[in-house]
Amino acid sequence: MTEELNPLKIVAKQMKEACDELDLNPGVYEILKEPQQFIEVSFPVLMDDGYVKTFKGFRAQHNNALGPYKGGIRFHPDVYGDEVKALSTWMTVKCAIMKVPYGGGKGGVVVDPRELSQGELQRLTRSFIEQIAPMIGPEKDIPAPDVNTNAQVMAWMTDEFSRLRGYPALGVVTGKPLNYGGALGRNEATSRGCVFTAVEGANKIGLDLEGATVAIQGFGNVGSHAGIIIEELGAKVIAISDVYGGIYNPDGLSAKKVAEQVEETGSVVDFPGSEPINNDDLLELECDILIPAAIENQLTSKNADRIKTKIVVEGANGPTTPEADRILTEKGVLVIPDILANAGGVTVSYFEWVQNNYGFYWTEEETNERLRDMMIDAFNDVYDMHEEKQIRMRDAAYLVAIQRIADAMEIRGWLG
Ligand code: GLU
Repeated sequence: MTEELNPLKIVAKQMKEACDELDLNPGVYEILKEPQQFIEVSFPVLMDDGYVKTFKGFRAQHNNALGPYKGGIRFHPDVYGDEVKALSTWMTVKCAIMKVPYGGGKGGVVVDPRELSQGELQRLTRSFIEQIAPMIGPEKDIPAPDVNTNAQVMAWMTDEFSRLRGYPALGVVTGKPLNYGGALGRNEATSRGCVFTAVEGANKIGLDLEGATVAIQGFGNVGSHAGIIIEELGAKVIAISDVYGGIYNPDGLSAKKVAEQVEETGSVVDFPGSEPINNDDLLELECDILIPAAIENQLTSKNADRIKTKIVVEGANGPTTPEADRILTEKGVLVIPDILANAGGVTVSYFEWVQNNYGFYWTEEETNERLRDMMIDAFNDVYDMHEEKQIRMRDAAYLVAIQRIADAMEIRGWLG
């Protein structure tokens, strides 16, 4: 049998197993097995050559038992409907684990943004928001950054939505720039959250972070800041890769300097003092902590056996297939699942939305402290479940989340 790589099938199976294990009312799985709403749109964009081109986009609203739908929008040439639906489901689970009062959503546009000019990118962003505007809003569904989208894109989205409504609606999108309703600490939040869980995980297995070796796959927003923050805690980043290639130095690379190079050249490749390494070899390097921070299905049954790390911290969404998760756990690797490890992003998105709604802004220290408390609580809720039931961290995370979602549906009268 070939390994299951369709994220929607993977997440539906995870949901089903969790509902069965918790012995829940069958209505819970019935409701959670697919998004409540899913829209596919085709929208026009005026290109610089004077011609109009249409693009395809998606928004999935998985579940709003615990609050408005929440989740990022990615711009990627390969994004497809089932992927967006799965990612929206993970958002529902992620918010429940963190006790962030949201449900899950996700969006995507089929585009390679590197092929567009800034003007085209802005027009594409506005046109997509115009199409989905009836579905979103500060009390309804709140988009955010995801793969290949950033604070600038969030500013255009917020401005377009505000223009359509006729008043400033800062709370409609999170991950905005600091001079337009953004929150201090949001940009680094996913990475900071990953590192908080790595620290907790290291404590549990008795690993000293000082001098611990780290390999990072993907050096976008999540990977780069995770590298910089973990280095500040004394760990040594020995390998990094991006879509163009990888770099390796057993004595440590300085993620900070690599990030500076990426600012200039757009890639980690040819970093002075490093040896080239390909992506597959990076994943199989001997290291203490491996942070996959790129896209789905990177650790699979094909390479899991050869992975030589102590902790996997899933910065990306869905980087480990269920089969690989099983193999890694059997090998004694602690896998900190995406729905916990990278939940710092949505948590600080929630802080941003709170600040927008109040019109009162926090310091970065306040944000980081609250984030730390929430990440540690969530980590321990999951870890305790993992210990108590002797199950994988991922399965434990699902149990914690789905019980909370089921309780909300029950009290709301959705189950009869
Ligand atoms: N795209 C991020 C995620 O997958 C952030 C979502 C948000 O901030 O709403 O968690």
